[in-house]
Amino acid sequence: MIPKMPPREGQIGYLYFPPYRIQGISVAGEQTVIQIPELDLNFDMGHATRASLTGKTVALSHAHMDHLGALPYWLSQRYFQKLGAGRIICHPKIVDDLSKMLKSWTPLEGQNTPFEIIELTEGNELPLKGNFVLRSVEMNHTSPCQGYVVVEKRSKLKAEYRDLPQDRIKTLKTEGVEITEMIELPIIAYTGDTKRCEALQGDLFQKARIMITECTFFLDEHKERAKVGKHLHVTDLVDLLDEWEAEHVVITHVSRRTSLGFAERILRDVSKGRHVDRTHFLMDFKSNKKRFERQLETAGHQFKSANELTT
Ligand SMILES: [Zn+2]
Ligand SMILES: [Zn+2]
Repeated sequence: MIPKMPPREGQIGYLYFPPYRIQGISVAGEQTVIQIPELDLNFDMGHATRASLTGKTVALSHAHMDHLGALPYWLSQRYFQKLGAGRIICHPKIVDDLSKMLKSWTPLEGQNTPFEIIELTEGNELPLKGNFVLRSVEMNHTSPCQGYVVVEKRSKLKAEYRDLPQDRIKTLKTEGVEITEMIELPIIAYTGDTKRCEALQGDLFQKARIMITECTFFLDEHKERAKVGKHLHVTDLVDLLDEWEAEHVVITHVSRRTSLGFAERILRDVSKGRHVDRTHFLMDFKSNKKRFERQLETAGHQFKSANELTT
């Protein structure tokens, strides 16, 4: 008898929330990598997808293997493809061990792969592209873990000057009056792995436009497992969904034992259908493809295949 061919592996989940693409792979305990190409940014590196190589920065949530196992390979591939040194952002508690691990590859490979590690302490920020910065937020998991928020800084006319005519504003400006103020908009938040904790209800997470959240367990009898492993259970997620203002919530890190159709049904039941339109499962290729086809149709494109668009 001829053995079966192995199943196809590695399809990348894809969602487009203009102007941002959220793409990657995320299965609890196996691998998580989530890329936002528009910001040259990856959250976690459990699998070095080809696409992830183009993002210069990896913001690591924590050091579990499914979130950083592919980091040396990612750095090495970037170097091999002449894309420059990768930049790694991590929790202060893992920076030493992580640095030791990465340096140990130099004698092993007989090659000095360049990299940069930056520890980002709670509340501090790091510049990304343009007006965007990355902030870290302490989470609560079985190993030190931080989530991240991409914040856009915009300068805006102060309220008291908004109704003035243009030439008056010009004059004030030339007189050196401070007519603008800096406002901060949380654009994208990422939870990493975490149990329900206060940070998830903090201002930045509350107001983020796009939320990328873990939700590992969906069955009632898995509540205890969620507690022990310090993960979110669907009942936690629904409570948070009632508070988060996000336009779009991307659900990641679903356990492989849970079929996505089943997870979607449970989410709908537990939330009594309240959040159906704004919740998306990253790995639900079928629904996400249909959604993308609708976006193309609206934009006047036809869908041939994922990589082939015609106008
Ligand atoms: Zn994980
Ligand atoms: Zn973990």
